Amino acid sequence: MVITMDLLIQDVMIIPEPDTTRIFRANIVIEDNIISTIAPNAKIPDPEFILKGKSLVALPPPINSHTHLPMTLLRGYSDNKTLMDWLQTIWEIEGKFDAKWIELGTRLACLEMMKAGTGGAADFYFHESKIGNVLEEAGIRGWLGAGILPSAFVDQGGYEFQLDELKRAIELAKGSSLLKASIAPHSQITVPEEIILKAADLAESYQIPLMIHASETRKEVMDSEDKYGVPPVERLDQIGFFREGTKEIIAHCTWITQREVEILGKHQATVGWCPVSAQKLAYGGVTPVPELRTAGAHVALGTDGTASNNTLDLWREMREASNVISASRWDPALYSAEQVLEDTCWSFRRNFHSESLIKVGNQADLVILNFQAPHLQPLHNIISNIVYAANGSDVHSLIVNGKLLMNNRQISTLNETKILEETEDKIEELL
Ligand SMILES: [Zn+2]
Repeated sequence: MVITMDLLIQDVMIIPEPDTTRIFRANIVIEDNIISTIAPNAKIPDPEFILKGKSLVALPPPINSHTHLPMTLLRGYSDNKTLMDWLQTIWEIEGKFDAKWIELGTRLACLEMMKAGTGGAADFYFHESKIGNVLEEAGIRGWLGAGILPSAFVDQGGYEFQLDELKRAIELAKGSSLLKASIAPHSQITVPEEIILKAADLAESYQIPLMIHASETRKEVMDSEDKYGVPPVERLDQIGFFREGTKEIIAHCTWITQREVEILGKHQATVGWCPVSAQKLAYGGVTPVPELRTAGAHVALGTDGTASNNTLDLWREMREASNVISASRWDPALYSAEQVLEDTCWSFRRNFHSESLIKVGNQADLVILNFQAPHLQPLHNIISNIVYAANGSDVHSLIVNGKLLMNNRQISTLNETKILEETEDKIEELL
């Protein structure tokens, strides 16, 4: 059962902005899914639910900027391979994914995300209407990236089915306060140009975000240069992918030139970078996050799917994100803890759902961490502890759109035991 009643969060440390100097202690009152008061002694006459504790820290829940939720069923299925070898093994088994597996994989993913305090995800897959139903049931936010890849899911209807799924995702999102539809052509080397442009047209006419993978590996960049004379992001710009008024989410951008950085900045695109997956698949490149931020692109952290990560835990991802920039660039100050936290808990939200930032009058989205743990003490710097020392199991509670979805690690919307048992029992059947 979802707890939808009025909530009082007492004496909690609040991080309203990714800035150590702005942190303060207060009470938060949530009424009818809205933050109604933030003040030291704020109260409501009969709160139906109270969360309190001196060691609790509240901030906006992370949003996963790029993932493939149903692929959670393939965690650990194919490790230690290069992208192309890995894709071959994954595509073989993915061909068996029908609605039943999509739903089970998404349920497992939602459970994992909620346990790690993730408040929403920009998903990129097929059957997005089924995925949206599960996200709605779980109670977290979803940007449903209806995948477009004519060569995929051919026996389920291929391209026509994918366009139908987009329409279903759009319909589903209309009646939901948590879901937004979007369209997601796979990449500029796997999808024909006219279909990529058709997707951009649809994004423009429906006013929905446009997602794509780009410059994931050096091979992809070299193939694009051989075939079209320019690298992927530059080609997308040349063919007219970026549109005034359309918000793009470009996944990876591991191997991009400074000219492409400027293109992404000019269009104020969101780059969903996934450092753990990129390192594990040995891409060799590192997304030029500092340059992208300077150029005016939005940078947002993602995990990619668990088939290549192998977790959806964005707190662990943050630590890797910061360290990989420091290690590869020989400069520990190039991407600070505050900036990493901003790109995980604020950046995507500011750009795609600013009405859920921590502010009186806004929809209440809060993740509450419990700092009563040896690895999170002492408190010289809360943001440093979050980025470099915390992990998903430090999440105490999760509130999305004013609903207490998890309290003291107990999830109220999904049946955790049942989902875990079902996964264990049925996985053989998929293999
Ligand atoms: Zn991806």
